[in-house]
Amino acid sequence: MVVCEFTNYLFILFHFNYILPCPEEYVNFDKSTLDKHDFHLDINSEFCYIKRNEIFRNKGIITLYPMHNMNSHKLVVGSVVAEPGTQVEGHLSVGILPDGTQIRIPIVLINGIHPGKTLYIQAISDGNELNGIAVIHEILSKIVPEKLSGRLIAVPIVNVHAFHAKQAYSPVDNVKMNRCFPGRSDGTSSERIAYQLFEKAIRNADYCIDLHQGGVQPMIDEVRVRVGTKHKCHTACLALAQIFGIGYILDQKGPKGQLAQAAPDIGIPTIDPELGGTHGWDANSIKKGVRGVLNVLKQYQFIEGVPDVPDQQTVVNKFVPIISNKGGFIYYKANLSERLEARQPIAEIRDVFGHVTEVVRSPEEGIFWSHPIYPMVASGGVIGKIGTPVSYL
Ligand SMILES: [Zn+2]
Repeated sequence: MVVCEFTNYLFILFHFNYILPCPEEYVNFDKSTLDKHDFHLDINSEFCYIKRNEIFRNKGIITLYPMHNMNSHKLVVGSVVAEPGTQVEGHLSVGILPDGTQIRIPIVLINGIHPGKTLYIQAISDGNELNGIAVIHEILSKIVPEKLSGRLIAVPIVNVHAFHAKQAYSPVDNVKMNRCFPGRSDGTSSERIAYQLFEKAIRNADYCIDLHQGGVQPMIDEVRVRVGTKHKCHTACLALAQIFGIGYILDQKGPKGQLAQAAPDIGIPTIDPELGGTHGWDANSIKKGVRGVLNVLKQYQFIEGVPDVPDQQTVVNKFVPIISNKGGFIYYKANLSERLEARQPIAEIRDVFGHVTEVVRSPEEGIFWSHPIYPMVASGGVIGKIGTPVSYL
């Protein structure tokens, strides 16, 4: 590639549609040089194209961008470096296993050709919540540096140990990753992973998306705002949740150590989308997650387009458990996301012989939000949760 200054524009020569990163490697390339090589200059208000003539047909094309609209900053996360206009895949070293194996977290950096904000997105903080990685794969297949204004940092698997074990918590330290942020440099394995990600990637972001799901138990697709209404970043986090546009929002201060608290504490609006709940992958939840991330990218001018957001979204502030007094098998009479009246029958409990022993009713008005994966319960067990009180955005 040749990059050069000409009047107030940068020239970038594409070879076979591949853009090499070298804004530092400007070449003096004036109009007479262009004329000598018989380039045709074609300028419009946004982009300017120089079309090659016959001589250069095998070399590609030249695209001309206004200089003020060019990103000139490298994107650096640990030893992974993306020059402007490039996408780079690599790993962040975060520790060592007993056998000497390096613990490495996969990272993808897309450094847009145009300047803009930085979005950090991560998945599999809980090792059995897999929908998020499919969302990241789909987003990476749609975003190219040539059409990105800003930077995207994607971490497909945060909790590598828990992921290998197909469980929520890391088997190395038996800690929940989403209670570890912003991490500790001298902490347990999970705390060290959180620390490295927070210091080397998250701290440099303008927005943050931490993709989760309700583990393997069925749950509606929702987005969580975890800072509490008095937090300085609450309005920005709620705006991010709203533009994600999945239709349901839990606006409730969460436990200490969640990324959706630690990042807003340093001024980075952050959301925790909960993409349903299932073993393996759920295509419908993944689709909603992809649309949500694209909505965020569009809203904050990373990419062109208009966000696709529902006219009305449901907001709740807490969950109330639905308790069965009898032990037995659960026959649900209501569906997830259904609006429940107080005392509305939710399920019948049948004993082991099939006789109905209890009709469990909604403890209060709200949205039927989640229920356990298995249809059996011991007396005093939780057979579901209701989101309440209900308001709308
Ligand atoms: Zn989770």
